[in-house]
Amino acid sequence: MNCEIIAVGTELLLGDIVNTNGQYISQRLSSLGLDVYHHTVVGDNLDRLVEAIKIASSRADVIITTGGLGPTDDDITKLGVAKALGVELSLDETSLKRIKDRFSRYGRPMPAINERQAYIPIGSRAIDNDNGTAPGIIGEYDSKIYISLPGPPKEMRPMFEEKIVPYLKQKSKHVIKSHTLKVIGIGESALQEKLGDIMTNQTNPTIALYAKEGEVHIRITAKDEDISEADDKIKEVKNKILNVLGMNVYGYNDDTLESVVNNLLQEKRMTIAFAESCTGGMISSRFTDIPNASISFINGVVCYSNEAKVNILGVNRDTIEKYGAVSMETAEEMAYCIKKISNTDIGLSITGIAGPSGGTESKPVGLCYIGIAFDDQVKVYSSVFNGNRNKIRWLATTKALDILRRNILEIK
Ligand code: ATP
Repeated sequence: MNCEIIAVGTELLLGDIVNTNGQYISQRLSSLGLDVYHHTVVGDNLDRLVEAIKIASSRADVIITTGGLGPTDDDITKLGVAKALGVELSLDETSLKRIKDRFSRYGRPMPAINERQAYIPIGSRAIDNDNGTAPGIIGEYDSKIYISLPGPPKEMRPMFEEKIVPYLKQKSKHVIKSHTLKVIGIGESALQEKLGDIMTNQTNPTIALYAKEGEVHIRITAKDEDISEADDKIKEVKNKILNVLGMNVYGYNDDTLESVVNNLLQEKRMTIAFAESCTGGMISSRFTDIPNASISFINGVVCYSNEAKVNILGVNRDTIEKYGAVSMETAEEMAYCIKKISNTDIGLSITGIAGPSGGTESKPVGLCYIGIAFDDQVKVYSSVFNGNRNKIRWLATTKALDILRRNILEIK
């Protein structure tokens, strides 16, 4: 089934509000494996809306409108749908009662004008709105589906999830299965290039790339009448991608980098401690977001000043004076010291320049050193991240988690 989304509202055309409903519905439809070929935005003008609905009907199986279901004269969506279909509007008594009840719950009589919201095109059915007055509408005419949703996202989204998604799933003959691969260490364009052969002409399953902060997600979506066939289709493409990307795939679906690292630590019965300077506890915080992290995460120290690095961790003052707080040598000692004072299997350190000031030619803003101490060795990695202060700090913690992951995987 292919779908077209029509967002109704002059505010959208004027740029006063952003069409986030279009974005939301599109993302959800594509995750359900339904195709979206066109989006239309139309103002509160009946003739142009009717024209937009007719055009959409000529090329889509499912026409979804958002907005324009309010009680005022400029709320014309239902009239537009009815006119495009050549049917009249009629009063839906159940919706009228719900609207009246909603007003009385707030201790007010229903203004007469709100009765308009209970009118729907003949042959359609109303969809209860649990978060507002305007009911949504579903109608099936000449093997096309017409869905109208309210404009306010807090009404539209729950209605879409609770009422429309189950309806569309049941209408679609196909089972839709999705599987997400989470990738780190390769940017979106490089990934596109690497997967070029696999992605070219790939229609079922489809492969979509989503760039996230510091990582890229690859969603494989298969459609089939049989669920195990859909699974097999996904498995085949997934294996091809894994062959190309190897270790760069860190996890699947709900996995996060920190949960993957935590699981690896627990599998290998290893403990860890962090010494953080520029990231100010962010990596510890990401780690403590995982419910059972306490089994492996023993200690986190924010040693922002030189004094703290010397007095709390035990870093050699001469090292900081000679090489600077942001240096390979300091990162190396920080990792070694945090491992020692915490008595853990691994010590990880981060020191860097998060900006916006403090950079020099040889040590620019964004430069970070990440040290990892385990067994009898300490390795230090250096990277330069782009972005504002927060982004640099986030990317540094992401890189540190990835360094941990790759090293733990190599430890016997
Ligand atoms: P109401 O019953 O509140 O009038 P409605 O269904 O008639 O709802 P509109 O009047 O078109 O919807 O829009 C109401 C508000 O919903 C807008 O002011 C805007 O804040 C939000 N809205 C409408 N359309 C969109 C959209 N496409 N994307 C994001 N927000 C939207």
